[in-house]
Amino acid sequence: VDSITERDECPQVRQAIADPDRVVVVSTSPSVRASLGEAFGMEPGAFVEGKMVALLRALGADYVLDTNFAADLTIVEEASELIRRMTEKDRPLPQFTSCCPGWVHFAEIYAPELLPHLSTAKSPIGMQGPTVKTYFAQKMGLDPRKIVHVALTPCTAKKFEIRREEMHAAADYHGVEGMRDTDQVITTRELARWAKEAGVDWNTLEDSAYDSLMGTASGAGVIFGNTGGVMEAALRTAYAYLTGQEAPAALLELESVRGYEGVREAQVEIGDQTLQVAVVFGTANARTFWKHIQESGKEYHFVEVMACPGGCIGGGGQPKDLLRDGDETRKSRIAALYRRDSSMALRSSHENPEIQAVYEAFYGKPLSEMAEKMLHTTYQDQSGLIQADRPNQKGEEKTMK
Ligand code: SF4
Repeated sequence: VDSITERDECPQVRQAIADPDRVVVVSTSPSVRASLGEAFGMEPGAFVEGKMVALLRALGADYVLDTNFAADLTIVEEASELIRRMTEKDRPLPQFTSCCPGWVHFAEIYAPELLPHLSTAKSPIGMQGPTVKTYFAQKMGLDPRKIVHVALTPCTAKKFEIRREEMHAAADYHGVEGMRDTDQVITTRELARWAKEAGVDWNTLEDSAYDSLMGTASGAGVIFGNTGGVMEAALRTAYAYLTGQEAPAALLELESVRGYEGVREAQVEIGDQTLQVAVVFGTANARTFWKHIQESGKEYHFVEVMACPGGCIGGGGQPKDLLRDGDETRKSRIAALYRRDSSMALRSSHENPEIQAVYEAFYGKPLSEMAEKMLHTTYQDQSGLIQADRPNQKGEEKTMK
């Protein structure tokens, strides 16, 4: 895993761009737009979505799509799954989020008894990949075998995630062997280095917009990039599904799950139900919290876990400026995403017209047979394999405040 997570895949992307027989589609994760500017001397928290898209076009991408679209898709599937767990009791509560491969990998190794609690919904990149190589390819008249799907992420662990066995839903759909849903992952830092080597002048880049298909997202998709954001986004949609009404203002600015402490808890009223939720970052905090759940017997409905400090805005592939205080930089990036969310008219994932369109044309409805096949996954107990290799579990954990 370590050799995979360290590898810069920009050379492969450049090669694909140079090949006229390849169509290079880049999808950008929520938090990159709040950090990329730092690599070019801008202040932490500068929101550079338009310049980021322009940069990718300048480097030769054929299409630039927004992984926030798939964050909305993840929320719709994950909120539907939560409601099914609560009503049909088909799987245990609390439901834990599963969009962070660092956390999923940690749970598979060190807490396999937790795996039935992990949401089966794939991460946004895990959903974006198969949707690009099926729905997007069909709509755009592209041969999916020629598409090279590249994820621009804050995350080195995504390089491992796209290579998981089960990340080939498009290959199964098309009956094509060896096709991966996402072909390459490049990080924020790697993109910045590539741009500098290519001599692109960041300062003169004019803002560019995403391509129109799979390029629209809600504010809920935006805040996916910071700690507490997945929880807040999912509750907006769960509220609408459970009550038949849109989330009220208090739920659109859910202060109780915002913040920068490693563990935060809240009670959220939805109709006549009270949901007990928690937001955690850092795997050591997650392990302690899981122990607390088991020992206290306290009932929780939904728990968000992200491995990195502050969530993906603090990911291992983000720009690092040793002159600045890391916590302050991360807080500035978080603030940028919340500002963007509150400035948007479209705040909830299920209201995104592009999400409604992809269900109408392709997935049917949340948790449909097709959605389960393409957008959901399974997890493996890997405790036996790894314990032999790595007897010192504590060395694997990240302790956060
Ligand atoms: Fe990757 Fe960190 Fe985000 Fe997890 S929290 S998805 S490891 S960047």
